[in-house]
Amino acid sequence: MSVTSREVQLAARPHGWPTPETFAIVETEVPDPGPGQLLVRNLMMSVDPYMRARMDDRKSYVPPFQVGAALDGGAVGEVVASGAEGVKPGQIVLHARGWREYALVSAEHATVVDPSVAPLGAYLGVLGMTGLTAYAGLFVTAEFKAGDVVFVSSAAGAVGQVVGQLAKLNGAARVIGSAGSAEKVAYLTDELGFDAAFDYHDGSVRERLAEAAPDGIDVYFDNVGGEQLEAAIAAMRLHGRITVCGMISVYNATEATPAPRNLAQLIGKRLTMRGMLVGDHYGLERKFVAEVAPLVAAGKIKHRETVFEGLESAPEAFLAMMRGDGAGKILVRIGTP
Ligand code: NAP
Repeated sequence: MSVTSREVQLAARPHGWPTPETFAIVETEVPDPGPGQLLVRNLMMSVDPYMRARMDDRKSYVPPFQVGAALDGGAVGEVVASGAEGVKPGQIVLHARGWREYALVSAEHATVVDPSVAPLGAYLGVLGMTGLTAYAGLFVTAEFKAGDVVFVSSAAGAVGQVVGQLAKLNGAARVIGSAGSAEKVAYLTDELGFDAAFDYHDGSVRERLAEAAPDGIDVYFDNVGGEQLEAAIAAMRLHGRITVCGMISVYNATEATPAPRNLAQLIGKRLTMRGMLVGDHYGLERKFVAEVAPLVAAGKIKHRETVFEGLESAPEAFLAMMRGDGAGKILVRIGTP
């Protein structure tokens, strides 16, 4: 027995920005699960910036996608057949084989989740990988402490929206965010309680940041790199800390991009600039969920999602996420429970 499914494959490696031609939707047959495996009908999948790096044939911390094979990434789905002890059909699991309607998943790499505790999208966003990235990147990597002035870029995005609110709830003296539109800027100040926000398209980032943080910043949570990183270094106070979480402004670059031109300021200001990978922080997951889930349930941490409908919309969902179209965490609904 097998089930007919559709999956999104990498049709060609992009040069610069991916296009619809980067992807192909292909029909496949998915076999019954063997011992230790689950057959999962996917309900919701995530599109994330790191997937862009996996489209290139480049050694990285995750292997590249292969041309002619399905992409993968975070997803939640319903178990329809189980060859694994302890996991039953009907249960909902979080796993890493998105971009397809049906997935054969090793039970070892699947986590049973309770859809009555949080909506499915939350397991891929605010209470999932992007939420944990915000939590670990702020508290562990940046060593945030009460009284810090915090600046976060891509602040209205999946990671950024959580960073700013966690900082605020934990006693930041001031939280500043940048984003790509006036609507996102208003969301940050009016809905999420940021003290200041600006659109990074609006003239000089360095000037906008200096206006928003006249006394400088202690922590920069970098999601974008480039001009904003350079501006943050300029705004840093003594002993400031920078979490290098992402550099989306250069993910589609076709030539080497310039480094921040003011790195020498790290010396005099004794700055720390530290890269982080969420994969190193899953040991914190229980603590993170125990702390953050009640804040989300109480409405003290707000979050937005944009949901695209149907597997065929997944390529456009990915491109929209990269462009900044859509609000908050971008998801694709593949099926209904
Ligand atoms: P996201 O912020 O929800 O989505 C990406 C956003 O980047 C877009 O919505 C867009 O928003 C912004 N953007 C696109 N091009 C830009 C540019 N040239 N300059 C400035 N902003 C630009 O994505 P996310 O999932 O929360 O990820 C945020 C960052 O964290 C990414 O760099 C990602 O790679 C990184 N990340 C790292 C880890 C890790 O373990 N290190 C884990 C998760 C995510 P605007 O409308 O505001 O431009």
